[in-house]
Amino acid sequence: MQQMVKRVVIVGGGTAGWMAAAAFGKLLAGGDYSIEVVESEEIGTVGVGEATIPPIMDFNRTMQIDEADFMRATQASIKLGIEFVDWTRLGHTYIHPFGTHGVQMQGIFFHHFWLRYRALGGTLSPDAFNISSIAARAGRYSPPLPPGASPLPPHAYAYHFDAGLYAKYLRKMAEARGVKRHEGRIVEVTQRGEDGFIESVKLTDGREIAGDFFVDCSGFRGLLIEQTLHAGYDDWSQWLPCDRAVAVPCDRLPTTTPYTRSTAREAGWQWRIALQHRIGNGYVYCSQFMSDDEAASLLLTRLDGAARASPRPLRFVTGIRKEPWKKNCVSLGLASGFLEPLESTSIHFIQSAIARLMFLFPGNTFDPATIAKYNAMTYAEYEETRDFLVLHYNAVEREDTPFWRHCRAIRIPETLRAKWEMYKESANIVAVPGDLFRESSWFAVYTGQGCIPRSWHPFANIPSTTELNRRMELMSSDVQKVVQGFPMHDDYLRAHCAAPPIPEKPM
Ligand SMILES: Cc1cc2nc3c(=O)[nH]c(=O)nc-3n(C[C@H](O)[C@H](O)[C@H](O)COP(=O)(O)OP(=O)(O)OC[C@H]3O[C@@H](n4cnc5c(N)ncnc54)[C@H](O)[C@@H]3O)c2cc1C
Repeated sequence: MQQMVKRVVIVGGGTAGWMAAAAFGKLLAGGDYSIEVVESEEIGTVGVGEATIPPIMDFNRTMQIDEADFMRATQASIKLGIEFVDWTRLGHTYIHPFGTHGVQMQGIFFHHFWLRYRALGGTLSPDAFNISSIAARAGRYSPPLPPGASPLPPHAYAYHFDAGLYAKYLRKMAEARGVKRHEGRIVEVTQRGEDGFIESVKLTDGREIAGDFFVDCSGFRGLLIEQTLHAGYDDWSQWLPCDRAVAVPCDRLPTTTPYTRSTAREAGWQWRIALQHRIGNGYVYCSQFMSDDEAASLLLTRLDGAARASPRPLRFVTGIRKEPWKKNCVSLGLASGFLEPLESTSIHFIQSAIARLMFLFPGNTFDPATIAKYNAMTYAEYEETRDFLVLHYNAVEREDTPFWRHCRAIRIPETLRAKWEMYKESANIVAVPGDLFRESSWFAVYTGQGCIPRSWHPFANIPSTTELNRRMELMSSDVQKVVQGFPMHDDYLRAHCAAPPIPEKPM
């Protein structure tokens, strides 16, 4: 019989470490476990990671987080999707919104009907059929109506928040649930002689923290999973070439935009995330085509307000740990892999890894088949998202800089090629259970980036032209009506979750 693992040691106190600690503290409550977090203020955290996606609601619900309290504590705003500016071509913009477009008809997805409607001369864009898109453009927000309250499916949303405040919020929650924190820098990791399992970590002052199960949340360095256990890394930069970022917060504008903006730039793209107290900005770029100094100075000239700190440089290699879980160590967050933040997926990966880990929580035998299953599931999740990101870079008309010519010439992964070929031919998008990006997301990005299929599902030919136009106009006017009833985003924030002002001095 396998026994419970009793001592869980989490190495790292960034978003990953504290999300894991808060979740374990809650979900292992009442059991005979100890949960300890080791973090080093001297090393600090990556300090970025401000945009999320709707599944974060599931994490917050499981944690019994009160939304208004959480939003106040983290200076959060609402995110309804991402606006992509200048991606397809200069001067072009589209939104990848949360939630679905339109409603299913004849048992098939809305986009097939839209494609026929468009081919017949219909002029409404996909945005007109998505509540989050229209609300984002109007700067409005209201929580989703309960299912059935409108003929349209409820819209979806997520948050923008201050990553540092989020980690603090989770830390408070974890410590209230009995998680113990150790401050200090780990300088040594001891392994068991016979099988190399990790036994303990040692800090500079000689303290030794022993455990049965180690969760490596140490960031890009992968202190346990890579530096100690040599799990290996699959480098995916041949598909996603950006490898650097520079981040800087700036003063806010009077209006808080309820969506993330991603603007394609000469050697990558720039993010803009409006929070209650400031705007987060960053330039993600490829070092082959741009120097660090150039990226930082271009970013500083493209801010909406005065910079509030010096630009912070970051380096990364897009890819995934070959074995995110090895022996008695599982890696979470940046220690397990990284896909650049174009679709804000990293915090989600932490959350879904925690859920997977709970489902496959180890006994003291550390069953290799369970570990292999966990690793295969993690790999599949990263691979699906990688393909979605590659689509953004490859399906462009831009040829104005060497970077964009490079992106157009990328030999895309076979998994993406198969999806894209099917879409081009028949407009079919097949999302399998567990896929993060579903039909509406692929449709939004395919269409936004100018990929229009040759055909559509034959069932979309069933309604007459008049009937099809009638349904499309009705749906779009329902979307407009719903959004007109929403308050302005800033009024909503003020009324429900206004955060205390933070006195931050401009540089
Ligand atoms: C440019 C960029 C933009 C991003 N934007 C987004 C976004 O919009 N949305 C999103 O979901 N994600 C985003 N991410 C990812 C997100 O920032 C991370 O997934 C998230 O912050 C988790 O980081 P982490 O906790 O794994 O690592 P870190 O924040 O790096 O934390 C590592 C922890 O380990 C500790 N540590 C390391 N070594 C030692 C040691 N020797 N001894 C003791 N402690 C140690 C550190 O002190 C720290 O506490 C972005 C990432 C980058 C690089």
